[in-house]
Amino acid sequence: MKVPESHPRYNSLKLREKLIEGYKAGIVAEAGLIAHGRGEAFDYLLGEVTVPEAELAAKAAAKLLLGAENPVISVNGNVAALCPAEVVTLAKEASAKLEVNLFHRTDERVETIIGHLMNHGAQEVLGANPDARIPGLDHARALCSGGGIHSADVVLVPLEDGDRAHALRNMGKTTIVIDLNPLSRSAQSATVTIVDEVTRAIPKITGYVGRMKEGAPAHEFNNAKNLETIIDNIRTGAYSSV
Ligand code: ATP
Repeated sequence: MKVPESHPRYNSLKLREKLIEGYKAGIVAEAGLIAHGRGEAFDYLLGEVTVPEAELAAKAAAKLLLGAENPVISVNGNVAALCPAEVVTLAKEASAKLEVNLFHRTDERVETIIGHLMNHGAQEVLGANPDARIPGLDHARALCSGGGIHSADVVLVPLEDGDRAHALRNMGKTTIVIDLNPLSRSAQSATVTIVDEVTRAIPKITGYVGRMKEGAPAHEFNNAKNLETIIDNIRTGAYSSV
């Protein structure tokens, strides 16, 4: 189906199309399609735009990535389907490693996603040969790379499951979560939470990384306060255009 650009839900429908294509290509898991729906509902409440609090968080995320010794971007099926080129660009700009890390892990899906990222310009993607584990998680969900997520000081985990986001924090890592739901366990457990749609958030972070490399200043950031403002604004309908 060709979605006309004049359609009021054009962007949202394009993202759905990308996910369905990703599902057919073996990149997206069935549960990933459902998880996207939860995100869409929250995006509606944000007015489907990057809210000012998400800008602040994206800036804070850029600062953390630039200050890290071993930053890693964790990529799952939905992220790979929605914005493969954008995550590759961010990894290059922030000198971060890319690692495929899946909740519904199969070796085949990991390989397919790695191939997809390579086709979008990635030079190296970790995740095919996990040799380490995240403590506190059951076997398949715990698997990760020793040179990647396991030894990272800063991990960007877009659209992460709450248990794993929490387990990474318990390992002492600084975590950056992108999640449209400010109430999710991932959002609540992160060092920096960017409450924004992932295809909007990733290029934002890249932009701030670039500007900070050229000397733009970073600002103080309080994640708990930022999340509280977002939740208040959603409750009062301050963001919503409907
Ligand atoms: P948690 O386990 O952290 O409490 P959850 O059970 O909702 O949350 P998942 O089912 O893994 O976690 O859902 C993924 C999360 O990603 C959801 O909170 C959803 O709001 C968010 N999400 C889905 N699609 C997007 C997207 N395109 N951009 C940003 N966030 C998204």
